[in-house]
Amino acid sequence: MMQQVRTRYAPSPTGYPHVGNIRTALFAWLYARRNDGVFILRIEDTDAERSVEGSLENILESMRWLGLDWDEGPGAGGNYGPYVQSERLHLYQDAAHRLVESGHAYYCYCSAERLEKLREEQIKRKLPLGYDRCCRNLTAEQRKAKEADGIKPVVRFKSPTTGQTKFHDEIWGDVTFENSNVEDLVLLKSDGYPTYHLANVVDDHAMGISHVIRAEEYISSTPMHLMTYEALGYIPPKFAHVPMVLGNDRAKLSKRHGATSVLEFREQGYLSDALLNFLALVGWSLDDKTDIISREELIKNFSLERVGKTAAIFNHEKLKWMNGVYIRKLTDDDLAGRVFPFMENDLPSQIKRPLDIDYVREIVPLIRERIFTLKEAAPYADFFFLDELEYDSAMLIGKNMTAETVSGALKAAGEKLASLENFNKELLEDNLRQLAGELGMKAGQLFNPLRVATTARDAAPPLFETMEVLGKERCLKRIKAALAKLAGN
Ligand code: GLU
Ligand code: ZN
Repeated sequence: MMQQVRTRYAPSPTGYPHVGNIRTALFAWLYARRNDGVFILRIEDTDAERSVEGSLENILESMRWLGLDWDEGPGAGGNYGPYVQSERLHLYQDAAHRLVESGHAYYCYCSAERLEKLREEQIKRKLPLGYDRCCRNLTAEQRKAKEADGIKPVVRFKSPTTGQTKFHDEIWGDVTFENSNVEDLVLLKSDGYPTYHLANVVDDHAMGISHVIRAEEYISSTPMHLMTYEALGYIPPKFAHVPMVLGNDRAKLSKRHGATSVLEFREQGYLSDALLNFLALVGWSLDDKTDIISREELIKNFSLERVGKTAAIFNHEKLKWMNGVYIRKLTDDDLAGRVFPFMENDLPSQIKRPLDIDYVREIVPLIRERIFTLKEAAPYADFFFLDELEYDSAMLIGKNMTAETVSGALKAAGEKLASLENFNKELLEDNLRQLAGELGMKAGQLFNPLRVATTARDAAPPLFETMEVLGKERCLKRIKAALAKLAGN
């Protein structure tokens, strides 16, 4: 029988989840979903000093927003809980003591000062850094003396000093490390809290994880983890270390490349489906050419074989483009509902709230092709809402036109529009084209100042559709305002 696939995302609540980190969670989630497996969320909160207030809630919200649902973990239950490491301390303590008893680990009494001095010395003499194994062979008496002094020891792993550790990584293939390079790392701290290394091994085993899918940076810790599995008598899971995420300039993705936390992208008006699609392609590909892939298709096609070994680039421009594609796929109702809160928040304060959702729904088809994020909707569409438009009257006067000719044209247009019973785009176009002819003008010579008068911009959504949505009253008022501007008041 095939082993059930069980993958996990194991964030530490030390900050808001970074898109690089969430991309790794996405791969673990996709792998579980692809293989009818189980996806587990485990909170690795054993480093109290580094924990950041609010980050757990942010992690959960980021996952929910992206639709990375977990089958076991906080709020979801499961048979292997608790899923928060600080609630499982006895398990790590038991394991550490078992390792000491079986001779795979030992107590170390070195003070922070001694370790610091050691480090300085190693730097000065250009020696390899790391613990010098000073406590590895303490006698029972020596230990008793330290205990009598009241020193609380840490537990360190006793790494073999010869031989090699080999393993097969699902992405990197066969990997070999020299054991002599593996330090005697701390497993359990003197306060009874485990380090990442111990807690990770104990939990991946206890939770029946079949595939550890995690960031590349942990590949060098894997030999030590494998030794720990063996020492504890556990069969290790499979490992897949996914490549790093870099910015456009090939430096590690960071703040200076733009937004990096998942919820920041939500605030900036990205759609979760677009971000999900985009992130899936940061280090994985379907076929080297397909960009737009639905969640269902991702699940159907995801494989670790197509995860690349080279660092993946996070290209903000591409994400923005992709978000535009997803925006264009939404129905009017859906898009209106999504831009509404952004407009409520971002439109100038003098515009009356709450906004009229029906009006927003009419605007949406006119802006859909021109925005790449939901947040761009408000600045793009503000002229639909403003009572008075601000622009320079010179904008009204096009090539080969004067203030007088433009005034004449706008006045005639105003009269024509006032006489219309129906204010729909077809009628508007017919009437205004005809009027341009009557005035002996080219269509553009009439339409351009009308566009500026009604929208305050020279490139805007299609004129007649826009005028229809604005409605007769607003259009007439705006034409009047434009005439006043031309008259110099
Ligand atoms: N807590 C670790 C982190 O946040 C998890 C690493 C792992 O997946 O093993 O990076
Ligand atoms: Zn020591």
